[in-house]
Amino acid sequence: MNILSQFRQLITMETRHEDEPKKMTVLVRILSLLLLIFFIIMSVSFFAVGASQASTGNILLAVLYAMVFFASYLLRKNPLVWSFIIITTLWAFSMLWLFGPDSSFQIFPPFVIFIFFFASYDSLPKKIIFGLCTFLVYHGMSLIYGDRSPLLDFSTSAHRCVRDSNMFIIILCTCIAAHVFSKDSLNLENKLIEYNKRLKTKANTDPLTGLNNRSKAIDYLQDFVKKTDEILASICICDIDHFKNVNDTYGHDVGDLVLKSVADALRSAIGDQGFVARWGGEEFFIAFPGLNGDDAKDLLYKAQSEVRKAVIENNGQTISVTLTYGLTEYDNSKSLTENLKDADNNLYRGKQQGRDTIVF
Ligand code: GH3
Ligand code: MG
Ligand code: MG
Repeated sequence: MNILSQFRQLITMETRHEDEPKKMTVLVRILSLLLLIFFIIMSVSFFAVGASQASTGNILLAVLYAMVFFASYLLRKNPLVWSFIIITTLWAFSMLWLFGPDSSFQIFPPFVIFIFFFASYDSLPKKIIFGLCTFLVYHGMSLIYGDRSPLLDFSTSAHRCVRDSNMFIIILCTCIAAHVFSKDSLNLENKLIEYNKRLKTKANTDPLTGLNNRSKAIDYLQDFVKKTDEILASICICDIDHFKNVNDTYGHDVGDLVLKSVADALRSAIGDQGFVARWGGEEFFIAFPGLNGDDAKDLLYKAQSEVRKAVIENNGQTISVTLTYGLTEYDNSKSLTENLKDADNNLYRGKQQGRDTIVF
C-alpha cells in the first residue's frame, strides 16, 4: 500500500462510535491537519523574522489543532466539533490580541456558524441562538480589544501578510467544508434527476417494441395542438391485418416478434419525419408534423414496403404481415379527438376494402 492510500485510510478511518456518521469527524480531521501545518509554517516564518512571541502563539495553536486531530479518533462528534469551534474562536481572539482588528478576525464568526449549522442536528432556533452567541463573542472581543493597540508592533506589510494568510486559510477551510457537505447532496440530486428521467422514459415507452406508447402519443399531440392555431399535419392510425391468425398459428411469442419487427420497420421508414407510437394491441399511430396528406401518404408507401420486407423466420417458415393505414390531414376546425376519429374511420374503411391499403 503506498503512502498516499495509507494517509487516506488514516483520514477516513471509522469513528470509534459506530452509531455516528463519520463525515463530520473526517472533515474535522482534514481541517485540523491543514491548520496544524498552517500554524507550523506561520510559526517558522515568525521565528525567522525574529518575532518570537508570535512564533510561540502560532506553535500553541498548532499544538491545539494537533490535539483536536488526535481527539477525532477518540471523542464523539459533538464534543469534537465543539473543541474545534472553541479553538478556532481562540485563534480569532489571539489574532485580535496580537495583531489588532486588522488581522481579519471578522471572518471567523461566519466560518464557525457554517461548521456548526452543518454539524449539528439541533433545531433551527438553537442554531440561530448559536449564531447570535457567536456575534456576542465577536462583539465582546471587539469592544474590549478593538481599540487597544495590538501587542505586537508590526510593520504595515507584515500586518497585511498576517491578515491575508488568515483570510486565505479560512477561505480554504470553508471551500473544503462546503465541498464535503455539498458533495453528497449534489450526488443525490443528480441521481434523482437521472432516476426521474429513466422513470419518465419508462412511463412513455412501450416495453415490447420500444416505441412511444399511447399516453406519450396523446401528450405529443396535445403539445403540438397547443403550439399553433393553424396546424399543418397529418395523422395516421394503422393496424396489422389478420394478426389474430399469426397468434393462433404460431403462438403469442412469435406474434410478439412480429409486432417488434413491424415497429422497427415503421420506425426506420418514417425516421425523423414523423412520430411513431404503439397505439395499443396491434395498432400503431403515426403523426406527420408539417406534412400535408399527400406527402404523408408518400411516406406511408415507404412504410408499407418496409413492413412487407420485415419477415420473421420461424421453424423454417417465413412470416410476413401487412398493415391497413387510415390517414387524415389535420382539420383545424375539428377537435383532436374528432381528427383521431377521422383517421380511425379511414382505417375501418381500409379494412372493409380488403386490407393492406392506405386510405386517405
Ligand atoms: P384485422 O385485420 O381485422 O385487424 O384482424 P386482426 O386479427 O388483426 O384483429 P383482431 O382485433 O381480431 O385481433 C387482434 C389480435 O392482436 C388479438 C390479440 O390477441 C392480438 N394482440 C394484441 N396485443 C398483442 C400483443 O402484445 N402480443 C401479441 N402476440 N398479440 C397481441
Ligand atoms: Mg388487426
Ligand atoms: Mg386491431
